[in-house]
Amino acid sequence: MSHLLEKLNQAQKQAASHMDGPFVVFAGAGSGKTRIITTRIAYLIEHGVRPWEILAVTFTNKAAGEMKERVEAICPEAKRATITTFHSACARWLREFASELGFQTNFSIYDDSDSNKLLKKLLKEANPKGDIPNLLADMKSFLHIVKTNGYFPSDVERLHQEMSHLIPIGGVALYRRYQEELANCNAMDFGDLLLNVLLLLRRNKTVSDILSQRFRHVLVDEFQDTNRTQFEIIRRLSERHGNLFVVGDDDQSIYSWRGATPANIIDFQRTFPGAKKIALEQNYRCSGNIVKAASTMIAKNVNRAEKTLFTEAHEGDSIDLHIESDGEMEAWWVINSIKQERPNFPYDDVAIFYRTNSQSRSLEEALRRENIPYTIFGSVEFYDRMEIKDILAYLKVLVNPNDAISITRIINTPTRGIGAKAVETIERETKSRKLPMMDVIRQLADEKIPRVSPKFRFFVDLMDALKKDLLGRPLPEVIETLLEAIEYPEYLKKKFPDQYIDKTDNIHELGSAIADFAKREPEATLDDWIQSITLVRDRQDLDTVSGVSLMTLHMAKGLEFRRVYLTGIEDGLLPHRNSVEDNQQLEEERRLLYVGITRAKEKLSLTGASRRRTFNNYVVNSPSRFIAELPQETLNVSFAAKQVLDAYRADDEQPDEEYFEHTQEEYSYEPEPEALEKGSSVSHPTYGRGVVEGFETKFGQTKVIVKFYDFGF
Ligand code: ATP
Ligand code: MG
Repeated sequence: MSHLLEKLNQAQKQAASHMDGPFVVFAGAGSGKTRIITTRIAYLIEHGVRPWEILAVTFTNKAAGEMKERVEAICPEAKRATITTFHSACARWLREFASELGFQTNFSIYDDSDSNKLLKKLLKEANPKGDIPNLLADMKSFLHIVKTNGYFPSDVERLHQEMSHLIPIGGVALYRRYQEELANCNAMDFGDLLLNVLLLLRRNKTVSDILSQRFRHVLVDEFQDTNRTQFEIIRRLSERHGNLFVVGDDDQSIYSWRGATPANIIDFQRTFPGAKKIALEQNYRCSGNIVKAASTMIAKNVNRAEKTLFTEAHEGDSIDLHIESDGEMEAWWVINSIKQERPNFPYDDVAIFYRTNSQSRSLEEALRRENIPYTIFGSVEFYDRMEIKDILAYLKVLVNPNDAISITRIINTPTRGIGAKAVETIERETKSRKLPMMDVIRQLADEKIPRVSPKFRFFVDLMDALKKDLLGRPLPEVIETLLEAIEYPEYLKKKFPDQYIDKTDNIHELGSAIADFAKREPEATLDDWIQSITLVRDRQDLDTVSGVSLMTLHMAKGLEFRRVYLTGIEDGLLPHRNSVEDNQQLEEERRLLYVGITRAKEKLSLTGASRRRTFNNYVVNSPSRFIAELPQETLNVSFAAKQVLDAYRADDEQPDEEYFEHTQEEYSYEPEPEALEKGSSVSHPTYGRGVVEGFETKFGQTKVIVKFYDFGF
């Protein structure tokens, strides 16, 4: 037998060495599902499958990167296999087949803010007097649903039959307009990357033949999180040979809010008759206490497939439970513990998780104060910064001159006297002349319109010159040259004198990013780089990975760390306040905690805070309801945590309705409660504007009860 299989147990071996036909591995956390996939890729190659005939997909770039690394360690030929995320795989195929869809290969990928801009513009056209923010929110969620469920604008009838209750007024027409407008810009949004591949597979026989013959084996990790569009892509790609191998765990389905359908894995054998299925029951990752705590808690979910998870590992350390007085103290406790344990757990082995991105701020501050190196995963913020978006917009227009959203961003940045009116003219003319925006600007420049034509001429000439100068250059020089040519630093200095240094630093970081990329991929073009950063939204910040890892619970899926701190174990955060009203959503929050707990190999701490600062307010949270679901014998509850829990328990016995209502109505605490009185109006960064309804003092703290006007987001 192949030595590759030596490191697997009996059931794992059977799965990894399975040759042809559909196969599903359905098993709990840490039971070796991903190990099966990596071993299997090597095994297939060893048994004559050519590496480029293998497609393995997963959800995050980090998980894909790790999978690639693990496979290549045991089988260097696997370098030529396609091991990647859904989005990257699809973007690659679309570059190849863009023309079949009427796109050019250099199409732009619009991120959320680009597509918001476009949608807003269309909404304003359609409803000049409408409430745009509201319409935008409705339309965005509608687009999300249709794109993840495989509906095209042409599927009008199906749309009306199957989801009429979800269509906002005029939604289908607007969907069509939006897609047309994207096509005019030679651009696709994130959803389109998948949807357009599905379109090719459904309606273009040539492409669908090519793609489905290209891969003889399709493997999917974390299959419980596939949505309908992804599922259909996978199904069609593997239709011809039926060699579809999937692994997953319904208890770790944490993306149903984004359209994932766990039924895809639960009903796998029904969809693929003759599919083989195995379950794995042994967890190899975590210590005994961690497995016990996670399994006991997740069993509280009603909607789940029954499964067993055991470990032969020693029970290990107890799980710490700490509740501190506020978010800052919580961060301080975590960081202090990391420092103290450093001899046992080097920084690289430590991870801190949180439910929402905003929780990372206090942790980051504390880490910086203590000079502890760290890496944040999934922070998209860098690429959302104004100066970075400006520079990228220039580059995008150079590669794709049809990209109207990017053109309108840069045409008057730095300022060139092209005002809103002139931009409106361009947009109007682009629409009526039915030409790419850059061509229209060129025509307008020639049309001798007083005052504006010379300015348009200047812009067009500038872009032509940049194109000539930049596109041939080695990548590392591109940004520097661009900055100089458009006099961007001078513009920043003049417009943002206070932030000039920060913003320049950011641009330099962008410069290092492109240089790093060029080193890694010497053959790559500017277009390749732009695509790589647009796609890799869950990359770590630009530094290389080292030190303590920080990430949201969603990002943590599939990963493992020797030492884990799971922060914010509070009602309102975990479960999240938006999810407590609905049982299905509450179960998803429980799964999220299950994912978090089962990342820890050796030691886990759960931490929370009694109140959290958000700008000027404090939000008061009670301990997470999930704490009571953990077996007490696995926990080591700190003195302070015990006091808080006891206080809430005592309170529980004499229910004080108003007090426990705080998950629906927000309670917040002002640093200077004297300054407030009943009826005062207050504002909160998340909940918006509200009015003070009353006060309440408990545990020596005064809470202000606030009714927020439009609570809910
Ligand atoms: P998750 O559901 O969290 O994605 P998983 O089922 O994919 O987990 P893996 O990440 O593949 O689990 O494995 C968990 C850990 O157990 C890894 O460190 C892996 O190397 C180890 N492991 C898996 N199978 C075995 C085995 N048969 N013997 C020893 N260690 C194993
Ligand atoms: Mg896994």
